Amino acid sequence: MATFETSAPAGASPRRAQQDRRLVRYPLIAAALTVLTWLIVIPVINVFYEALKNGPSQYWKTLVGDPDTIAAIKLTLSVAPVAVLSNIVFGMAAAWAIARFRFRGRGLLTSMIDLPFAISPVVAGLIFVLLFGLQGYYGQWLRDHDIKILFALPGLIIVTSFVTLPFVARELIPLMEAIGDEEETAAVSLGARSWQLFWRVTLPNIKWGLLYGTILCNARAMGEFGAVYVVSGRITGQTDTLPLRVEKLFQEYDQPASFVVASLLCSLALVTLAAKTFLEWKTRRDLVARQEAPEDDLTAPLALPGLVPAMAGVPGGGGFAGPAASVVVKEQGPASQGRSTGQSHRSVEIGERGGGGPSQRRPDPSSVGISVRGVTKRFGSFTALDDIHLDVPDGSLLALLGPSGSGKTTLLRIIAGLELPERGTIHYRDEDATRKSPRNRNVGFVFQHYALFRHMSVFENVAFGLRVRKWPEDRIRKRVRELLDLVQLSSLEQQSPAQLSGGQRQRIALARALAPDPKLLLLDEPFGALDARVRTELRTWLRKLHHEIGLTSVLVTHDQEEAFEVADQIVVMNRGRIEQSGTASEIFEHPANSFVLDFLGNVNVFHGRVEAGRAHVGGLELSYPDYPHEESRPAKAYVRPHELEIDRYPRGGSCLRGTLTRVGRSGAVIKAEVLSEEFGIPLAVEVAQDRWTEMSLEQGDTVYVFPKRLRVFIHDYQI
Ligand code: ADP
Ligand code: MG
Repeated sequence: MATFETSAPAGASPRRAQQDRRLVRYPLIAAALTVLTWLIVIPVINVFYEALKNGPSQYWKTLVGDPDTIAAIKLTLSVAPVAVLSNIVFGMAAAWAIARFRFRGRGLLTSMIDLPFAISPVVAGLIFVLLFGLQGYYGQWLRDHDIKILFALPGLIIVTSFVTLPFVARELIPLMEAIGDEEETAAVSLGARSWQLFWRVTLPNIKWGLLYGTILCNARAMGEFGAVYVVSGRITGQTDTLPLRVEKLFQEYDQPASFVVASLLCSLALVTLAAKTFLEWKTRRDLVARQEAPEDDLTAPLALPGLVPAMAGVPGGGGFAGPAASVVVKEQGPASQGRSTGQSHRSVEIGERGGGGPSQRRPDPSSVGISVRGVTKRFGSFTALDDIHLDVPDGSLLALLGPSGSGKTTLLRIIAGLELPERGTIHYRDEDATRKSPRNRNVGFVFQHYALFRHMSVFENVAFGLRVRKWPEDRIRKRVRELLDLVQLSSLEQQSPAQLSGGQRQRIALARALAPDPKLLLLDEPFGALDARVRTELRTWLRKLHHEIGLTSVLVTHDQEEAFEVADQIVVMNRGRIEQSGTASEIFEHPANSFVLDFLGNVNVFHGRVEAGRAHVGGLELSYPDYPHEESRPAKAYVRPHELEIDRYPRGGSCLRGTLTRVGRSGAVIKAEVLSEEFGIPLAVEVAQDRWTEMSLEQGDTVYVFPKRLRVFIHDYQI
């Protein structure tokens, strides 16, 4: 209510606004209360009043003294539970199918579930009379086999199940869709069998919704009148349920007794209402608790126990700090540099950073940890992976790098056994794992959105993979504590995932994946959902962790900085294919094609053409022996900002004239922007601080830009 008062429009007199609102508010509330009182409260109280007006002992006598009423109570108590049970089974199956699978007819199934709500119960009863009655479709057959459905218990159960069918499914479908299948996938990756998955993950997540649906369903099943009226034949003492009994007593002018039985049904309704309110309150409270996750605390930096505290001495550990620092380009004229498509940039010497193997415990390249051979995966007509071949050396960390939708996750899931390939094989060391279940593969999988089990404590999350493998309790305790120490979160053992920050959640997810001592560790954009600072911190930490445990690992990322910093080997993917694989230096210095160059970014692109062994890019002409043909073809030329030199005067040779439009600084490097006269595009140029000071250039000056190296790629051209 208070929100009405505070939201008075600016400028209007608040007093008047409040009065106006009150004028509307109070009559509305009064009207609603009046309607509720007259239509609901008074009639319900009246039922109890009428039932109890001759005293409790008379009430009790009326209730238990009439054998027909007792029979009605018994009948209702037998019909309702069976109907509820069939409802639960159907509801869970339907919700699972609809929320977890995409199939033809899914929309139709979803609408069909509501049909029993839309049909009048009397009509529902008639439908079954038409099916099972003597003149009905199955009537003769049922009589021949002496099976009685109408005017008997089976008929009552069938119609009651029919009219209550949507209750559980309607509750569960949106709930299961909202929860998603991430936790279930995580459980499968941790080795849970189907029933363990259901009991330990799915059911605890949906239990309140399920209970809610069940309670509503039960109330409706006990109170059903119309459909039951039609199929029961109303045989006193045999097929009369409670609602039918109320009606019959009323028709027989036995009002007191009819009110006594009615009060029973009313009590049931009130209990249902109370339970429903409690469950709603509980669900809301859980939701609120889930939303109150703390921020990541970056004041206490992560350090792995027993590890070198600073990463400065570990090559690659401090980040791929600009390739210019580690690469010496032989001084050559641009003309002789320009010959290249494919893997032809071999005119470069790699400095001490080269080789890209940041790990001290160097992987043994002779032994292969994971081998992917000819893997193809289609989703319908869409090819998500196209003939992938990949080797991950034992003990190394490989990054799958590529834009969104390039098939990285699909490949990782196939390696983990969460998805099956159409073609191709997966080997772990020498063992063929292609058809093995995730449980038998023993792979640790870390998901982008953590996928922690929300209903379990941190301890139980880490213990999950051990419990499903039936480890003894004392070993579980020991192992979980070890892992929590490793990720430095021992103090949070009893917390629930909702109470953790994003960074902490991901460390727990990592501990959970490592607990069953997996053969491989697969990480799918593990830091993608974290903010930039936490991300940087965690990837340095992951690098150290990998260094420490030396587990063959695959990291999926679309962030090249992450890949370059963390991985020994990088595989660049695009549209389900591998564009290039190699070390960070190889990929950065010898991009295999224009996709890789474009993807790495921070590069100047020119459009030109090639013909007869020469490449023409504006006024620049270079030798390009890889394309000897006479036919002219369009080509793209790439030059990185640090591969452009800048000067006040043309020095002869190939250069581009332009105007200095902007000057910025990034550390000891000056970042200049030169508007090329010929191409009409701004060129990014990076110059060392000393050289810049020497030239004393100002914005607006005319300058000349010299490419030290130009990479030329012909569109769709393979040598
Ligand atoms: P990435 O992880 O590189 O972003 P994915 O492997 O998730 O890419 O997906 C690759 C492509 O396959 C995407 O275009 C995606 O839409 C499609 N895809 C992935 N999973 C499914 C699926 N279960 N059904 C249909 N298409 C899918
Ligand atoms: Mg992905």
